[in-house]
Amino acid sequence: RPSIIWFRRDLRLNDLPTLLSATEAADDVLALFVLDDALLRPSGARRRDFLMGCLQALDRDLGGRLLVVQGDPMVLVPQVAAEFDAAAVHISSDHGPYGTRRDRAVAEALGDVPLVATGSPYAVTPGRVTKPDGTAYKVFSAFRRAWNDHGWHTPAATGPDTADWVDPSGCSTRVPIPEAGDEPTPPPGEAAALERWREFLDDGLERYATDRDRPAYDGTSGLSPYLKFGCIHPRTLLHDMRNRSDEGAVTFRSELAWRDFYADVLFQRPETARTNYNSDFDAITYDSGPDADALFAAWCEGRTGFPIVDAGMRQLLAEGVMHNRVRMIVASFLTKDLHLPWWRGARHFMKHLVDGDLASNQHNWQWTAGSGTDAAPYFRVFNPTRQGEKFDPTGEYVRRWVPELRSIDGARVHSLPDGPPDGYPEPVVDHAHERRVALDRYERIRSPR
Ligand code: FAD
Repeated sequence: RPSIIWFRRDLRLNDLPTLLSATEAADDVLALFVLDDALLRPSGARRRDFLMGCLQALDRDLGGRLLVVQGDPMVLVPQVAAEFDAAAVHISSDHGPYGTRRDRAVAEALGDVPLVATGSPYAVTPGRVTKPDGTAYKVFSAFRRAWNDHGWHTPAATGPDTADWVDPSGCSTRVPIPEAGDEPTPPPGEAAALERWREFLDDGLERYATDRDRPAYDGTSGLSPYLKFGCIHPRTLLHDMRNRSDEGAVTFRSELAWRDFYADVLFQRPETARTNYNSDFDAITYDSGPDADALFAAWCEGRTGFPIVDAGMRQLLAEGVMHNRVRMIVASFLTKDLHLPWWRGARHFMKHLVDGDLASNQHNWQWTAGSGTDAAPYFRVFNPTRQGEKFDPTGEYVRRWVPELRSIDGARVHSLPDGPPDGYPEPVVDHAHERRVALDRYERIRSPR
């Protein structure tokens, strides 16, 4: 009897522990992916196209033997298991709120066929790094120390030849892999992920610590969409960097720890996908109504009159990508200059980002809003003009994304000393004033009158 590997966020064949457990009893393995509307619905075209591209790449790597079905996994996974008389269904575990519920329901619906979980999309599986008393870490630096001490496995020795892939062509529920609408970016799939990683390891990592905060540069790995869908595993990255102790490698390792940390936080406190991690912030007042909606629309469309904010928001709409520094600037602007709730911004990000990931997105938003883990930097209100001047000192990033400002040289593109040129909006708010409003609102929840 064959095993099934039900692929979800592990769209690769190298370093895939699930593949080792699936082939323990027999070599015959059926590769399955379920197009689940519950996950596809909130996803914008960019992430969806990238996912479809990854499925096509996986199918090619499997010699055309990926079985794709569409609908409710609770119905379809048992149905496919019965049709192929599978001995077991193997997965890599999903610790998000939806994934946990879904997998529990599928395990029950499978009855006697076991659902076997091996590994996770993280270097250290959520829930494994805890304080000595077994409780979860609430502060990143302490988590990272324990995460480093915990260590991680070496990559699993797997590849396309590890299994005899079962031919799914006769399956009654098989659907074709949907076409990716536009040419997906970055190039989807495992081979593209490995190529990008090798390029970055050879050529980018040593400059990472200094270049990573400059949105005009290609100074970061660009791996987040691949990590999101498991085209490459963080264990592979950590293993390849095991002998590197330069500043670039240390900083990069720390960023991977942030990814694991936020997955752990979401696992420990699943409700924080929607609510404040720090419930003191439930009392904060945010604006609503038609004026707030108009400001939100200006933010979404990149017409706030703050050049670095508009550049970032337009890049998001055009490419489904935004540089980390700019994500922090636009998130601070939404919550502290426009006084709008973080979850409105987070929802817009989740729709448009190719790397949109519930744990990283919601908790980075909360960090910026001050309601998340770590000592909440409630007093940290980014000045968008100063941030632009500091991190885009030549103005190149802004000019790339805001054509109305292309005739303005250098860092003047951030401060617009001669006023906005024709076609570019006046600032929608006065930053100095809104900063005081934000600090006043935060002060009130810290020491309620
Ligand atoms: P690199 O700088 O090359 O970092 C390597 C990897 O480390 C990334 O691919 C990512 O997996 C991880 N990483 C880096 N920074 C962070 C971080 N702050 N938190 C968690 N993991 C991190 N990242 C997502 O993957 N999905 C999201 O939906 C997401 N939403 C965000 C929303 C906001 C408001 C902010 C401020 C950050 C968000 N991030 C998110 C984190 C970060 O911006 C992206 O991971 C990063 O920009 C991806 O580019 P890269 O792969 O070139 O990163």
